[in-house]
Amino acid sequence: ALQAGIVGLPNVGKSTLFNAVTNSAKAQASNYRFCTIEPNVGLVDVPDERLQHLAKLVNPHRIVPTQVEIVDIAGLVKGASKGEGLGNKFLGNIREVDAIIHVIRCFEDENVLREEGAINPISDKEIIDTELQLKDLESIEKKIQKTEKLARVGSDTKAQAELKTLLQCKNHLEQGKSIRSLNLSKEEKTAIDDLFLLTNKPVLYVANVDEASMHTGNKYSEQLLKAATEEGAQMIIMNNAIEADIAAMESADDRALFMEEYNMKEPALNRLIQSVYKLLNLETYFTVGVQEVRAWTIHVGWKAPQAAGVIHSDFEKGFIKAEVIAYDDFIKYGSEAACRDNGKLRIEGKEYVVKDGDIMHFRFNV
Ligand code: GDP
Repeated sequence: ALQAGIVGLPNVGKSTLFNAVTNSAKAQASNYRFCTIEPNVGLVDVPDERLQHLAKLVNPHRIVPTQVEIVDIAGLVKGASKGEGLGNKFLGNIREVDAIIHVIRCFEDENVLREEGAINPISDKEIIDTELQLKDLESIEKKIQKTEKLARVGSDTKAQAELKTLLQCKNHLEQGKSIRSLNLSKEEKTAIDDLFLLTNKPVLYVANVDEASMHTGNKYSEQLLKAATEEGAQMIIMNNAIEADIAAMESADDRALFMEEYNMKEPALNRLIQSVYKLLNLETYFTVGVQEVRAWTIHVGWKAPQAAGVIHSDFEKGFIKAEVIAYDDFIKYGSEAACRDNGKLRIEGKEYVVKDGDIMHFRFNV
């Protein structure tokens, strides 16, 4: 599964969020599967109500959602890029994730220690950003040294082109900007692909607000939203402590009652997990049968054979064609047979680009 890592300064609510994620998965065991791979890594189901709608129509033995991995990357502090406070270890952990969930403290609470003085989401964000940028600068500079040598040989135009991109990245980072905001072309990107730059990973901001602001946000989350929007990034307002409380409740009735008191339709966690999924540029197709109704994860733009390969590599190798029903059609007509009778079951070939929500049935040679 693809991974998203939770980062942020100490005491902003990262582990509270991680606990909420892990507990909610455990608590709703019938809908959610969760397993802890390591103390700080959890595999969590992606909430998708379409699964329930499909299941109502076909009554399957089981429902199998798709999953993402959430990693708690604690211990990032100012100076981490210089190795302070086990800094390098944590930065290494970030290198391995596909996306970043950056938690920022937008709540006041004098009982929760804060080293940086008054609440300031923008400067908190910049402290973390700076550490990641410094680390990236280190990677870029190393590669520049190597590439310069190659580029000196007059005929190595590839190295020369790469060097140009690397210098552009260096300049960008030195201005205190993240690589994700540098619009590199596909060819230019090949110069940095092997570096897995930290600031090139997609990011989602979590504004951890106080109870009173969980629906509306507050002045801090507004500041953060402005900064996030300037970067083209998404932000989610939530109260991590409440999410953890909801997640810790064992009875579904208690949970419902508690959420009603807070005027919540569903845990904000659901939105978070769904946003992470989007951030990773992922989509879902379904397989539907009496045995199981199941969600499968693909990248946006994948063609039918590649999508089939998610189920089994043989499906991709021996792909012949796919029977496809759009999600809305399946819901409207109620069954595969009814869709077929109404001309809503399409036969698609190797070039078909799978769409989010498609109900797929693959035909293949073994
Ligand atoms: P981490 O260091 O970022 O992992 O932070 P923790 O999740 O351990 O939280 C630090 C402290 O802040 C704990 O005492 C939490 O109970 C508290 N905390 C976390 N989220 C909230 C919140 O939304 N509101 C308030 N008032 N306290 C919170």
